[in-house]
Amino acid sequence: MATTLESESKVKIWANSGDSHILEPDNLWHDILPKDLADRMPRTERVSETEEIVYVDGSSFSRQLPRSVNKKLQANVRGEELEGTLNDLSHRPPGARDVKARLADLDGEGIWGEVIYPSVGIWDYLVTDPKLIKVAFREVNEWRLAEVQNFAPDRWVVAPTIPLMTVEDAMDEVRHVAEIGFHCIFLPCDPTEGAEDWNSEVWDPLWSLLEEIGLVITVHLGSERGGTKLLGRGPGKAVYNYVETTYGPQRFATKLIASGALDRHPKLRVLLSEAGASWVPFLGDRMNEGYRQHGFMVAPKLSRSPKEILYSQVYATFQHDVSAVEAATCGYRNVMWGSDYPHMEGTFGHTQETLHELFDHVDPELRKRITIDSFRELFPHVPAPAGD
Ligand code: MN
Repeated sequence: MATTLESESKVKIWANSGDSHILEPDNLWHDILPKDLADRMPRTERVSETEEIVYVDGSSFSRQLPRSVNKKLQANVRGEELEGTLNDLSHRPPGARDVKARLADLDGEGIWGEVIYPSVGIWDYLVTDPKLIKVAFREVNEWRLAEVQNFAPDRWVVAPTIPLMTVEDAMDEVRHVAEIGFHCIFLPCDPTEGAEDWNSEVWDPLWSLLEEIGLVITVHLGSERGGTKLLGRGPGKAVYNYVETTYGPQRFATKLIASGALDRHPKLRVLLSEAGASWVPFLGDRMNEGYRQHGFMVAPKLSRSPKEILYSQVYATFQHDVSAVEAATCGYRNVMWGSDYPHMEGTFGHTQETLHELFDHVDPELRKRITIDSFRELFPHVPAPAGD
């Protein structure tokens, strides 16, 4: 038995990641936009070891930064004994900004294909000037394609941002990004301030277009309309605020299902990144209960149960949760692993350890489903890693 486990632990597990990021160059906006426009786009300024200020078009908010992250901290989160101190500080993987170094990092970690979101660009959706957004998003999407996706087009699925002040603006950019070679679009948990909410029928032409051209909707946590205004204070705030970020993607899925948007567009698929996956069975049951028990006021009626729609059209990523693997054994097949590279919540430096802990005792077919196949179901142009 010990021999088997020992040999298992030496085998490299390759996994696709449905949740990764690129750190943008500090001067990105000034490199691609005129100064007066670039000055208004999101930027961060570190003011102390543990705090940065995020500036967005004339307003700003403060953000706490990790003092440290290391394998020992991750071990502690997994319930193991914490040894040593937490002062060996937040490290940044070599490939966080450099695409060539990134491939080397990924090969070392055993990460194959990736959905790549922005980092600072998560807050691009807080900008509300429609003219500014249209110009800025067009330019930054061109940059993302040329400088990131095209470096490894068979492995990297970069998520472009889409202007959301009107559905027409959104559709213009969706047509453009599809034409130039993107495979998905990044939508925020809430539409930009001033735009209609996701359950509104005004978005139906956008859903139809996405379904027709086959682009996947990718949603990343932390992109709520309120930004950090939603953060709690006081005792327990670190864990409370971390958990709070889980709900935005759940609300996104609930709105698209309850409003009938996914039912009317059965080929439309949604990837929810970094918010875990074990809540999906719960949400499916809860929506079914609401649909049944409050049936007298349910509108619109759906052709399939909310849970069936959720299970078939929504995919969800997790990094460390053992219960996410278990969710895949109770009928929810669209569980997807994600590394969150190069962010501190992710697995850089301990990816193989994490994958072995998660999957060494799991049926190989289920492991392959979560690490490789659910990703390739959304992005079939990404080949399987060698050996899988
Ligand atoms: Mn992430």
